[in-house]
Amino acid sequence: MKIVYSDKHAAHDPQTFFVRGVNRPAAEQPERAERLLGAATEAGHKVVATRGYGAAPAATIHTPEYLDFLQTAARDWAQLTNASAEVVPNIHPSRYPATYPKILVGRAGWHQTDLACPIGPGTWDAALAASEVATTAADLVLEGARESYALCRPPGHHAYSDMAGGFCYLNSTAIAAQRLRAAHQRVAILDVDVHHGNGTQGIFWERADVLTVSIHADPSSYYPYYWGHAHETGAGKGAGFNLNLPQPVGSPDAPWLAAGDTALARIQEFAPTALVVALGLDASESDPLQGLKVTGPGFHGMAKKIAALSLPTVLVQEGGYLSDDLGHNLVQFLAGFG
Ligand SMILES: [Zn+2]
Repeated sequence: MKIVYSDKHAAHDPQTFFVRGVNRPAAEQPERAERLLGAATEAGHKVVATRGYGAAPAATIHTPEYLDFLQTAARDWAQLTNASAEVVPNIHPSRYPATYPKILVGRAGWHQTDLACPIGPGTWDAALAASEVATTAADLVLEGARESYALCRPPGHHAYSDMAGGFCYLNSTAIAAQRLRAAHQRVAILDVDVHHGNGTQGIFWERADVLTVSIHADPSSYYPYYWGHAHETGAGKGAGFNLNLPQPVGSPDAPWLAAGDTALARIQEFAPTALVVALGLDASESDPLQGLKVTGPGFHGMAKKIAALSLPTVLVQEGGYLSDDLGHNLVQFLAGFG
């Protein structure tokens, strides 16, 4: 399988990550991408260069004011008196009707939903490169490749059209799906990351042309808490085109793979002509985030089920954090496509 990769990801190295009020080392480290790349190339997969598209593909999903914020926030933040090294919000607009602010501290709270998406000097360049990686992978499939793998970092599936969150800034999965829409009337997204793909769900919430399906640890006791529940099925034209399959925290392979069968049955019913897989590897039993207990054979089994659909497929890297099994699990997944 062709791997699309850009070393520009390394410019983003987040330092702020609050857990129960304590600032701890962020799990989303540059070494993740290096380990994934090393494992995939060692297994014989070939690396393809990322094409330059600039921000145009990201602009098909994200709002102009949000893209402007991501691009300028770190620079302008550095001009503030006594500012931290990274843009971190200290206020949020909450759940009530609000007015978009002009001042940077207010914009930070508007566009950053939590304290796990700090913006440093290299964040924009890395996020933009990730969107170009995903776009290149989608274009490879549009040009006839059966599958491609976008080794995106930072990840994207928690990012909404105008809001970062949970290590995510630009939603590469959504950008790839939108790119495929140029030649495909119906595109499905299957998100197997341990966290619900809330940004992706939000982006396509009212659309019937992109089916969103997510298998994840139950948000009643796991991030992102507010989204990912089974009763969230879409609205307007998109009513019925979002499927959430939450799993009890700590679930092993068997129920996860059974949820895969349910997901793929819904996808077949939708009859898409292309598929995007939001490939989080953090459902691993070895992942430091400890949401589910999927094994290497479990990842391989899920990939074989997906490959059996025989759809043009773009794999987009989402989560999956440093453990001895990280690279192995990717290789197991890619091997499922034969
Ligand atoms: Zn995740």
